[in-house]
Amino acid sequence: MKPELRELYQQVILDHNKNPKNFKEIPEATHQSDGYNPLCGDKLHLALKVDDGVVTDVGFQGSGCAISKASASVMTTMIKGKTPAEVDELFKQFQSVITSSVKDAIDYDELGKLAVFAGVREFPARVKCAALAWHTVSAALHENSETTSTE
Ligand code: ZN
Repeated sequence: MKPELRELYQQVILDHNKNPKNFKEIPEATHQSDGYNPLCGDKLHLALKVDDGVVTDVGFQGSGCAISKASASVMTTMIKGKTPAEVDELFKQFQSVITSSVKDAIDYDELGKLAVFAGVREFPARVKCAALAWHTVSAALHENSETTSTE
């Protein structure tokens, strides 16, 4: 990754951490789940409203490191208007990037907003921080209301 790009991505992560999107309760949630990453101590509560098979609102709350919070924030901006199957597809794409080998080429354009987390693959300890929100949304959508642990 080019150093300028890395810097830009770090800035995006810091911005989302400082001013997370959709950091709110969803009073009329139809689906919710709690996520916990014991390795880092990241905790989040995620709530969604699904109407007619489409995610119409989503919010998260909790505390954690910058990467876990930024990832949850970006995730919430990406899944509104999507069906659960489309969310699964995004999760798969995200997972394959952050767990890919550092030597593998990444198509940053195709990844869109998820590209900011590509650098996480260089830090295996942070992969679970980045993936927590996605594991949690997947659990919520698939009606698994118990706490999801990344372990
Ligand atoms: Zn973390």
